[in-house]
Amino acid sequence: MATMHPGPIAYFEGNYVPVEEAKVSIMTHAFNYGTGLFEGIRGYYAPEEDNVLIFRLKEHVDRFVRNFRILCMEIPESFEQIEEVCKEVVRRSGFREGVYIRPLCYKSDLSLGPTVKGVGSSFCCYIIKLGDYCDTQSGLDVAVSSWRRLSDNAIPSRVKSTGSYINSSLAATEAKQNGFHEAIFLREDGSVAEGSAMNIFMILNGKLITTPPTSDILVGITRNTVLELARDYMGLEVVERPIARTELYVCDELFFSGTGAQVAPVRSVDRRVLGNGEPGPITRKLQEVYFDVVQGKVPQYRHWCTPVY
Ligand code: PMP
Repeated sequence: MATMHPGPIAYFEGNYVPVEEAKVSIMTHAFNYGTGLFEGIRGYYAPEEDNVLIFRLKEHVDRFVRNFRILCMEIPESFEQIEEVCKEVVRRSGFREGVYIRPLCYKSDLSLGPTVKGVGSSFCCYIIKLGDYCDTQSGLDVAVSSWRRLSDNAIPSRVKSTGSYINSSLAATEAKQNGFHEAIFLREDGSVAEGSAMNIFMILNGKLITTPPTSDILVGITRNTVLELARDYMGLEVVERPIARTELYVCDELFFSGTGAQVAPVRSVDRRVLGNGEPGPITRKLQEVYFDVVQGKVPQYRHWCTPVY
């Protein structure tokens, strides 16, 4: 990810503090063992109403707190307080542009030993300015990674845990070093999982197909949004099923979804060009609808947008 332009105020140890003061000890459990879990949430600036609209805040907080169970985390902040903190850090930044909100829950005790039970947790949150995370216009050149997606029985992929991003970092780095924009992870069984920080969709014979929650993916909020928009708003047939590697080469269209990636078309996989090398028509339409929805322009999905100011 690019250089950080943080908001001046973060939430840390129960207070709003200058972001430079929000620091942890080198003995912190999460720093040593990767025992943190987080969310990435976008806020979009809507110029017509001069407001920042947070996209699907409730769904992000819901995924966040559900995953506390897997890592045995307990914090004093309630669901509603977490939502409020996410809004308040934006308000305190005064930003009137695209933002990315990063709530994080981490094992904050200074303690030795890899365990998740009995180690105290804390909640913090900061924001940064964020425009495009990857290109959404011309189409990405991607490669199947030599790194396998971590499996649910090793480091649970459905948990957005800090430690699990070593897996993503290795794949994304390899792809970039080899001259590609992004990586696609296969699972240990050789079927497709997802991108390094995004879910994957293909269009084959008019159907929209994506890998199921049992395919070692992070079950993306954007993925769920795209599925719902495709089915209910665009009337497409949507299918969640395993995807074989070679289907990526022969499908009609391919794109990534993610809070950072948004809806990002893919134009080639392992140097095999898809279609005519341009983002396909269904991808383009979905992308258009997605951008309208996140900017609060589609009344039936307006409840997904939370104004902060
Ligand atoms: N998979 C991984 C590994 C990710 O890091 C992300 C980004 N959070 C996604 C998928 C997409 O999830 P979401 O749409 O909730 O951002």
